[in-house]
Amino acid sequence: MAMVASTVEALLSQERLIEPSAEFRERAVVNDPSIYEEASRDFEGFWAKIAEEFVTWFRKWDKVLEWTPPQPGTQPPWFKWFIGGRLNACYNCVDRHVRNWRRTKAAIIWEGEPGDERVLTYQDLHREVQKFANVLKSLGVKKGDRVTIYLPMIPELPIAMLACARIGAIHNVVFGGFSAEALRDRINDSQSKILITADGGWRRGNIVPLKRNSDEALKECPTIEKVIVVHRGVMDATHVPMVNGRDLWWHRLMEKAKLECPCEEMDSEDPLYILYTSGTTGKPKGQLHVTGGYLVGVAMTTKWVFDLKDEDIYWCTADIGWVTGHSYIVYGPLANGATVVMYEGAPDYPDRDRFWAIVEKYRVNIFYTSPTAIRTFMKWGEEYPRRHDLSSIRLLGTVGEPINPEAWLWYWEHIGEKRCPVVDTWWQTETGCIIISPLPGITTLKPGSATKPLPGFFAEVVDENGNPCSEGSQGYLILTKPWPSMSRTLWGDPERYIQTYWTRFPGFYFTGDASVKDKDGYFWLLGRVDDVINVSGHRISTMELESILVEHPAVAEAAVIGRKDEIKGQVPVGFVTIREGFTQNEQLVQELKEYVVKRIGPIARPADIFFTSELPKTRSGKIMRRLLRDIAEGRALGDTTTLTDPEVIQHLKQMYEERYGE
Ligand code: ATP
Ligand code: MG
Repeated sequence: MAMVASTVEALLSQERLIEPSAEFRERAVVNDPSIYEEASRDFEGFWAKIAEEFVTWFRKWDKVLEWTPPQPGTQPPWFKWFIGGRLNACYNCVDRHVRNWRRTKAAIIWEGEPGDERVLTYQDLHREVQKFANVLKSLGVKKGDRVTIYLPMIPELPIAMLACARIGAIHNVVFGGFSAEALRDRINDSQSKILITADGGWRRGNIVPLKRNSDEALKECPTIEKVIVVHRGVMDATHVPMVNGRDLWWHRLMEKAKLECPCEEMDSEDPLYILYTSGTTGKPKGQLHVTGGYLVGVAMTTKWVFDLKDEDIYWCTADIGWVTGHSYIVYGPLANGATVVMYEGAPDYPDRDRFWAIVEKYRVNIFYTSPTAIRTFMKWGEEYPRRHDLSSIRLLGTVGEPINPEAWLWYWEHIGEKRCPVVDTWWQTETGCIIISPLPGITTLKPGSATKPLPGFFAEVVDENGNPCSEGSQGYLILTKPWPSMSRTLWGDPERYIQTYWTRFPGFYFTGDASVKDKDGYFWLLGRVDDVINVSGHRISTMELESILVEHPAVAEAAVIGRKDEIKGQVPVGFVTIREGFTQNEQLVQELKEYVVKRIGPIARPADIFFTSELPKTRSGKIMRRLLRDIAEGRALGDTTTLTDPEVIQHLKQMYEERYGE
């Protein structure tokens, strides 16, 4: 593989271009580039057309968009899309498909970690969702009530979400890997009435004790009236402690539930769900998504970005506890009547080839995962994908973090066998749907670039004063026009919504990410603005440094942060994990420092490099640089509740203090 240079200039002058094959282009859902022009010429007209094409409305809207810039002292709603429209998200994801041939099509192909399987057709899904909607109603759940869902990746999770949507209840899904404490905070912030959980789930052969965590959390959750418990079967039902009058078994309730439940007619702007972000940058924020615009955004982007056809088997490996799962396992694919694969467990159980075994078994055509997973696969080596027939795959996607060109090319070569376009999709919990991404039948790909905003979305890279940056200069990524699936506010905290997204560049949405555009107008994402280091006035993105460190053969993953320095302002400090077969020693530290110097210059020389067996990551797999900065600057650690393994950060803190004293 060619060495990929990684300073920003080198990134941008990369020669590597990958064109879609003539065959792919010809068969693609979208292959006429004039769509970009069309969408810019009349962007409201464009969205009106999309809304009609992708969504079934009980009542058509009267007006496409009304908005006022959110300003301090003002209250939501600031944005209204498809005003006056009436619809139901569950109707769009389920009911309309049972009215045609898709009735018998597989909606969800599910595989549990131990290897158990379930397939639900659209008709099965329709039945289960209606019954569960009746269960919720019988427990007094009404339109606008909040329901917290804390489940493993089992079919009951999307069933519960869709049942909420059906009756107009607002779901609040909490990732099953979160602790009791994180669950408690999210239940209380959302003021939920019902909690849906399970005896447990499977992860790497171990039990995830969901019911136990729930019981712990519920000691301090006064709003919860009932707990519905799915029997996943990780333990004998008689061993699950059930609180009398509060806890109810899912299967018992379903036995008695009525079969038919009509869909509530919702307003376009009625809330669909609350979802708390992963917390890389501070206290989790409860993003509020609404019915109409959200559905339009996710339905369109699923079909266009993933080039989704009716005959495809589509697999997004995210957990439904994250926005990626909400938008690209549940609402987007099901609105399109797709067949989705859903897998409960870990990628390395029983062995490191589990994902590829699943691809081979179900003949997956579209595969969507994260850079952190891809880098893990690289670390494990090519032998694992090579054990399986991956020839069914025709499109690959990535989301969650900037992907370094090296990992992009590895993915393209070893998983896609150099046949499949890779769509690097930039978006956020706040944006609800993909914003910057290739259209695989049109876009010439550049490894490491998310390419350009999709038709109907408008982004810019600006400097401190909000002026567009010249090509090749780093700046702030903003979105210059509203879009249908945008988060409307933060649940219970509109002031924070204004402060976080709308005051930095008044009238424009501030993403919090750093970016740069190249000569062809391609966007290169450089990580969060907070992750840009300023060394003696030179701005260096941590992503750039990390990208270089991982190109060194010894390094598997790297996190770089800026530490305050009296002379230089800030200096880079690296935390790295080593590939199998290499030794951590002082010589390697020097070698890595020199490696960075050689690639960027002495200005970027890491002041220090620490070896660690794991980097501190959120449950969604993102590196928590904020905590590394706390360590390096001798502060108390900020909120750690969203970490995968809090031990990792404690260990690093100790190591750091040993080296530097306190
Ligand atoms: P919090 O906002 O609470 O700190 P978070 O930002 O990690 O959490 P998400 O909304 O899941 O939560 O992540 C969105 C962020 O992930 C983006 O702002 C960006 O930094 C990063 N990201 C997502 N996809 C990409 C991508 N394709 N390329 C580069 N960065 C990406
Ligand atoms: Mg964020």
